[in-house]
Amino acid sequence: MRTRRRSYYEGAINMSGSHHKRLKLFSTLDYLDSLPDDIVLLILANLCSTATSPADFITVLSTCKRLNSLGLHSLVLSKASPNCLAVNPKNWSESSHRFLKRCSNAGSAEASYTLGMIRFYCLQNRTSGASLMAKAAIRSHTPALYSLAVIQFNGSGGMKNDKDLRAGVALCARAAFLGHVDALRELGHCLQDGYGVPKNVTHGRRLLIQANARELARVFSLSSNQLLLTGSICPLFSDFGCNVPAPDPHPANRFLVGWFSDKLQLELESLDTRLCSYGGCGRMETRRHEFRRCSVCGDVNYCSRACQARDWKLRHNMTCRVDLEGVGFNGNVNDTMVDER
Ligand SMILES: [Zn+2]
Ligand SMILES: [Zn+2]
Repeated sequence: MRTRRRSYYEGAINMSGSHHKRLKLFSTLDYLDSLPDDIVLLILANLCSTATSPADFITVLSTCKRLNSLGLHSLVLSKASPNCLAVNPKNWSESSHRFLKRCSNAGSAEASYTLGMIRFYCLQNRTSGASLMAKAAIRSHTPALYSLAVIQFNGSGGMKNDKDLRAGVALCARAAFLGHVDALRELGHCLQDGYGVPKNVTHGRRLLIQANARELARVFSLSSNQLLLTGSICPLFSDFGCNVPAPDPHPANRFLVGWFSDKLQLELESLDTRLCSYGGCGRMETRRHEFRRCSVCGDVNYCSRACQARDWKLRHNMTCRVDLEGVGFNGNVNDTMVDER
């Protein structure tokens, strides 16, 4: 067990600051100085797992050499919370890339997933992005399992013939089993349509009901303040017409949305690839006509059924051009997506 000697800080303090600042800093450092390394590691790991932004954590690391050194310990970085890894795409740099990589190497499945999504969709490094997501998926990280399923369903990063529907269904089933609502919904639609799996309408319907029940359960677990915050913008949200507030997008999806809206807007036109039309997704096509489009209006396209279901309840039911009652469309999104070409 090791503690730092006071002499190091005395030297540093004597070189800077006013008398008042010196006294304040001196007393703080004295207290920290008396703590053994394992206690400091515990405190830093707790901070890393509850930080609401990367700045919360990085600011502490820049306080002194000891915190900087212990803060980068794998025991600390492996506990990083999703929000601690939520890098702002406007501030993306080599150092933020390095920080995510370091957390991933330390064993954080969340960091592996976030960096995997960034590499796959933003930096267009498909192989390393997919392998990072696989690294998270092996640790039963449900968003990683679901994102890999989306990649398999679309054949992302390859050609149309590279779609592997059975692999997509298997990944969805694993994520759904672990409680991922989007995966459960996706699987329900796959069963209803016989998409990548033998058709079983009853079982598919049952899974969709389960997905909606889980969404309702999430809402009941929210505090009244959270409900008030989301209530005003709450659309009809479930497959069966219940009023449920939309969940916050995962930080990795927020990064993608910010990245493509800020950095590549002009280039998107020339690339002729499209973003998923659901505003909380941010996935970009990796080849032309990769995503399926709304079969009713043809104006929007989605990476997945889950994104289509969310966007329908949130926005698209108000803009889809065709008279929906005339085509027997009653708010259920089962039969409204088709492949491009
Ligand atoms: Zn999407
Ligand atoms: Zn439409």
